[in-house]
Amino acid sequence: MNDSHAGSKDGKDSSGNTITSNFIRHKVAQDLADNKHDGRVHTRFPPEPNGYLHIGHAKSICLNFTVAAENGGLCNLRFDDTNPAKESQEYVEGIKNNIQWLGFSWNGEVRYSSSYFSSLYDFAVQLIEGGKAYVCDLSADQAREYRGSLTEPGKNSPNRERTKEENLDLLGRMRAGEFEDGHCSLRAKIDMASPNMNMRDPVLYRIRHVEHHQTGRQWCIYPTYDYTHCISDAIEGITHSLCTLEFEDHRPLYDWILHALELNSLRAVSDLADSEATYVLPEQTEFAKLKLNYTMMGKRKLLEMVETNVVDGWDDPRMPTLAGMRRRGFTPASIRNFCESVGVTRSESVVDLGMLEHAIRDDLDKSAPRTMCVLNPLKVVITNLDEGHVEHISMANHPKDESMGRRDVPLTKEIFIDRADFEEEPPTGFKRLTGGGEVRLRGAYVIKCDKIVKDEQGNISELHCSADKDTLGKKPQGRKVKGVVHWVSVPEGVPVTVRLYDRLFNVENPESKDIEDYRQCLNPDSLIVLENCVLEPSAANTDASLNFQFEREGYFCRDEIDSSNDKLVFNRTITLRDSWSS
Ligand code: ATP
Ligand code: MG
Repeated sequence: MNDSHAGSKDGKDSSGNTITSNFIRHKVAQDLADNKHDGRVHTRFPPEPNGYLHIGHAKSICLNFTVAAENGGLCNLRFDDTNPAKESQEYVEGIKNNIQWLGFSWNGEVRYSSSYFSSLYDFAVQLIEGGKAYVCDLSADQAREYRGSLTEPGKNSPNRERTKEENLDLLGRMRAGEFEDGHCSLRAKIDMASPNMNMRDPVLYRIRHVEHHQTGRQWCIYPTYDYTHCISDAIEGITHSLCTLEFEDHRPLYDWILHALELNSLRAVSDLADSEATYVLPEQTEFAKLKLNYTMMGKRKLLEMVETNVVDGWDDPRMPTLAGMRRRGFTPASIRNFCESVGVTRSESVVDLGMLEHAIRDDLDKSAPRTMCVLNPLKVVITNLDEGHVEHISMANHPKDESMGRRDVPLTKEIFIDRADFEEEPPTGFKRLTGGGEVRLRGAYVIKCDKIVKDEQGNISELHCSADKDTLGKKPQGRKVKGVVHWVSVPEGVPVTVRLYDRLFNVENPESKDIEDYRQCLNPDSLIVLENCVLEPSAANTDASLNFQFEREGYFCRDEIDSSNDKLVFNRTITLRDSWSS
């Protein structure tokens, strides 16, 4: 093992982030030490544009891009677009946007498997000419029957011994659109008795008369994922093809296809055609998918939640999509740190959602400026201040980071505090304001509640308090005041809507077999909308940061989609403390 390559042992990257060794970093380091690919490291991230990316994809993105970057390599972005019926340009754009937002840049132009369709077709012809593929007329049902099972070998297709001429003619006619969907398919001629079902003459091309988002009506036959992926990797000169464990059983097919097609001809069309590099076939390595508790992942499930209005779209802040997390206020750094901290292994395990929440708290604790926002306002009149009194209270934007500066917070005769910070009949140990009691206004004076004003229904409508003017930046004389509450000026404060988001599911495994329908375990409090909140003016007028800590309430960010000039909307990213861990 050559330890001189970055990433081969635990350490820090150039930005000071912790990097942890894993079996893929080890393998890449070893391959470099062996000069396996002429010292090249070239990875790719291959999303299918059939939905938006989720946090699981982020793990794969981080892995592919960082492994390449740590070793002076390259990482391509390639849309694996062989299933046009479910794909769209909207998803292509969304995915590109998410990857850039995460902070990664792909090598060169965006790639599409569909741009290799003609090469893929030529390779299919080559396979037929080499006696390694044939056109099969079995229907989908028949093909399933012929395939056998895990305990029984399959049977050869009646068309398996077609002549090359006949196969070439039929493939040409498939391409020319002579046949309907499903009429026949092109299959690899491997082994119907293989213990690996993927090797039982897998389908390489199927007929689909559908328009493709990149190639339009040019094709009515489309190559399968297995056939396309390995060849696309080879064409792009990928060295390390990293994918998730469900493809482990497909690896023999990946290798079979690349070996069945002669290396030299692949080299001729590859990105490496003009280079002197020794051409070594790409190698697939699998790692475990990220799974998170309290979360449903998988684009099919997420699409269903969108289509049935369980959530308000792919970018609903409760979704585990990158679009949703971004809107919720997650920072790219927090997601990258989380992906690094969960590590890369070959064993499937479920990660606690608390780890992701910890990652965002940790980042925002350091980076989010503090501000005050009263979520549930109760008016307080400070009787010993004049009408029109505006005093600028200087407050630090961050308690531990002076470089984040200070701001002036206007204090006026009328202010709001949170209803939860006043109790007429306080329970024992209550440290905030009570009738006749005292509390400190954060950064300002100690006030005393002299009078409770109620409306006709007996609800508290306002409090009349007096300020001890000798307590600005000073302890009160001869007594202790423990409680500190946040506040916002009535005339200067800005009305805002605040959305309190929480976990979407209230059970650890919404996909458990014991749960008939995941809708039964939706957390009814996953979204609470508060319409009458009041925000400190400085936070309403800044573009500098969209993420804030609302003191004592949590981390919030301005919703860029629903905020307008008339009304600002803030989303709660995460509470200050974990209220879910038991
Ligand atoms: P889904 O099941 O959510 O639809 P997918 O695997 O079908 O995901 P692709 O667009 O094909 O989605 O995936 C692109 C890449 O992301 C693949 O290499 C895939 O293995 C990887 N990936 C997908 N889900 C996860 C996950 N949960 N953890 C890690 N990597 C993942
Ligand atoms: Mg998929």
